[in-house]
Order: sequence, then structure tokens, then C-alpha cells
Amino acid sequence: MTISIDGTRAAASVDRAIRLITTGATAGETCAPELANGPWQFDDGPAGYGPGSSMGDVIPTGSPRQGALPESYRTAPNDELHARIRAAKAALGDRVVVLGHFYQRDEVIEHADFVGDSFQLANAALTRPDAAAIVFCGVHFMAETADLLSTPEQAVILPNLAAGCSMADMADESSVEECWEQLEEVYGDLDAVDADGRVPVIPVTYMNSSAALKGFVGRHGGIVCTSSNAKTVLEWAFERGRRVLFFPDQHLGRNTAKAMGVPLEQMPMWNPRKALGGNSAAGLDDARVILWHGFCSVHKRFTVEQIAAARESHPGVQVIVHPECPMPVVDAADAAGSTDFIVKAIQAAPAGSTFAIGTEINLVQRLAAEYPQHTIFCLDPVVCPCSTMYRIHPGYLAWVLEELVAGRVVNRITVADDVAEPARVALERMLAAKPPVVAPAVAAAGA
Ligand code: SF4
Repeated sequence: MTISIDGTRAAASVDRAIRLITTGATAGETCAPELANGPWQFDDGPAGYGPGSSMGDVIPTGSPRQGALPESYRTAPNDELHARIRAAKAALGDRVVVLGHFYQRDEVIEHADFVGDSFQLANAALTRPDAAAIVFCGVHFMAETADLLSTPEQAVILPNLAAGCSMADMADESSVEECWEQLEEVYGDLDAVDADGRVPVIPVTYMNSSAALKGFVGRHGGIVCTSSNAKTVLEWAFERGRRVLFFPDQHLGRNTAKAMGVPLEQMPMWNPRKALGGNSAAGLDDARVILWHGFCSVHKRFTVEQIAAARESHPGVQVIVHPECPMPVVDAADAAGSTDFIVKAIQAAPAGSTFAIGTEINLVQRLAAEYPQHTIFCLDPVVCPCSTMYRIHPGYLAWVLEELVAGRVVNRITVADDVAEPARVALERMLAAKPPVVAPAVAAAGA
């Protein structure tokens, strides 16, 4: 299979591209040459996200740290790993379902029964109630969400427990609790309803957050959003509250609220390391959306200069970016939307279209391969995947599947009942605000 990077034909897969670049076999630049050495290099060292990310690793409550992957999985060539994965899946049959996030490497995606974004995948798993094991090739919060939505009998397995999300971990539960207490000092009783029937502030958490934070918003009258429904969710919140506390992604919050007409000066940033988040009481009083100081290390790489360069090199190019990108990038793009939006825009375009895409490179390169009638390239010329998604290597997938064949469940992610109950309330509020589209956007592997 060939793919298109930068409009030129190149070797398949981001993994392969990184290895070719780091060995000097091909021209190009990667932000993460360490990734070529295999994700197991991070399993023995101190917790950390590795190249391209920005925070220490946070393990979901109650989950063990990733142990050393047995050597046979670290040293086996990919061909052997693929054969072992296929054999294990065949042996397990309907007892297992493998979910692959859009941002996973192709070498994992080829084994996925469903491919999609995190919420699409959690819902896709609902179509397989007979699967005793749900192997989620994604990151911590995705596996937690799948556990929230699956039955107690189903085990959700994350092939590499070191696969977290640096953005999700920028808002931890204790910092958000502390923020909530400080807001209570400014606004008074946070449960008090005014003459319009609204409380002072409604907490809204992005799907990319821990189950603990989904539980927090569930307990405090709040709601979860995705990048697809953020506007609908903010409308829901403004009907019930005078303000919104939005975490963890400042950019999704700002881009969505700005498009709804909220002035930037009424969107103060909350820095959890500062008193009142670095704001004055008067500034908070005037706020409509309080933005947590969080961001995605992948999407913050996209720049206005990259958009200008794409338009110069490819006249007529359509620039589509994810709303986790900074506001100037979203403003300069032709369109902004979720991964689902990006996929559908490309599907609907007439042959011969040219797209510069501002989202994770594994998805962009896969789209370029699947739609050869278009020219599709990543806005960022540097090959820089999500380094934590990248922790799911075929070796880990083969290991968890072969353990299942042997009757052992490893790397199970379980959300405690006291967290799960309010977290489900927050998810149900989101579903009631706007039911999700499940099947059409979730492509079967290889489709
Ligand atoms: S792409 Fe960004 S938001 Fe998504 S898992 Fe990676 S760090 Fe988290």
C-alpha cells in the first residue's frame, strides 16, 4: 500500500515512515525518533509520556503499571506478530472484539473490528454484547469510557497500560475539586438557582478526561461533550447555568464558545497552579466560559504559517483542522471539525480534491491511502504522531490476545462503582442533549 505525504508518494504507515527517517533511508523529519525503538523502552523507566508529550503519566485509579512485555513479543518481527494476532482472534471468535482508534498506527488498525473515535468505539462495543473481552486500542480514558458503557461481565483491556492522554491528565480530580471550591468562594452557593432558573456555573468535561472527572461533573449537575457535539452541550449548559467551567481542553472550549458568539474577554483561563486560576474575582464574575489550562500536544503543533505554506504549495487546497487546534489555526482554516467531520468531508468531496488536514498523522495518512482520488496531506510536515497512542504496538496486542486464549485477562481497566455511577449520569445527559450517530461513522476494519 502506498500513501501520500505532502502530496508525494511515500512508503506506507507512520511507523514505517519514522523508521525510514531515523535510519536515513528517506528524507524527512520526525519529532520523535525514539519511537522507532519500540514503546517497551518506556515500560521500565519512570512514568512519563515520552517524546512529543508534555506531562507525567497518570495511571487510572486501581490499575497497575504496565509491566515488562515478554521478550518474545518485543523481538518478534511484525509478520510473526500479525500471524499470532490473527490466530488468537480466530481462536477467540466472538468472545473478543478489538477496537481501534483513528489515531492508532496502521499495524494495529488492520486487526480492529471497528475503527472510529473514542465515543463511536465505546458505542460500537455495545453491538457485541457477547464479547467477554473488549480490547481497546486507544488510551486510558477511552478504555474507561468503554468500561462505563459495557456490561459488568465484559472485561475492557488496554493492551499497554502506559497509553495515557497527556491532555486528559492536565485536569486531575483534586485540582478540579480545588477549583470548584474557589469558585464557590466567588459565586456563593453553587447549587443556588437564580430568577432565570440557572445555577452560577455548570461543569463540562470533554470526553478526553478521566472517569473520575466524568463522575465529578455528574455529581455537580454537569455534562460530558465530544468534539462533535460541543456546541449542543454548551447550549444545554447555558440553559441551566450562567457560566460554564470547561475542561480539560482550552482550545475546544474557546473555539466552540467563540463560534457561539461568546466574547474572548468573557473566557478567562483557569491555571490550576494559581489562586483563582490566575484571575480576579471581578473577572470571574463576568465570565461566561472558564477555560481549563489544558491542551493536546499533537494538535497544538499546527500553525497559521503551515496553512499559508499549504495554500502556497497547493492552490485551491481545502484546509480542515480539528477543534483541539489553537484558535488562530481554526480561524485561518476553511473548516474545523471532529475526526468524524474530517472523514465525512473527504468522503463527500469530488475526485481530484486537495486537502491539508490538521489532525493526528496516522489518520491523515490512512485517509490519503484510502482516497487516492484526492491529494491529502498533513498540515505539519514533521512526522509527529500521538506518542501515547503509539504505545499500542502489535506486540502488546498479540500479548493480551494470547493471554486471553490461555484463559488469562491482563491489563483490565475497571472504573469503581462510586465513580461509574455519576459518570454515567454525565454521559446520559450528553446522550439526551443529542443522541449519537453510531453505525455510519464507524468503519469496519479495512473498509
Ligand atoms: S491526540 Fe491529543 S487528545 Fe488525543 S490521545 Fe493523543 S494527546 Fe490525547
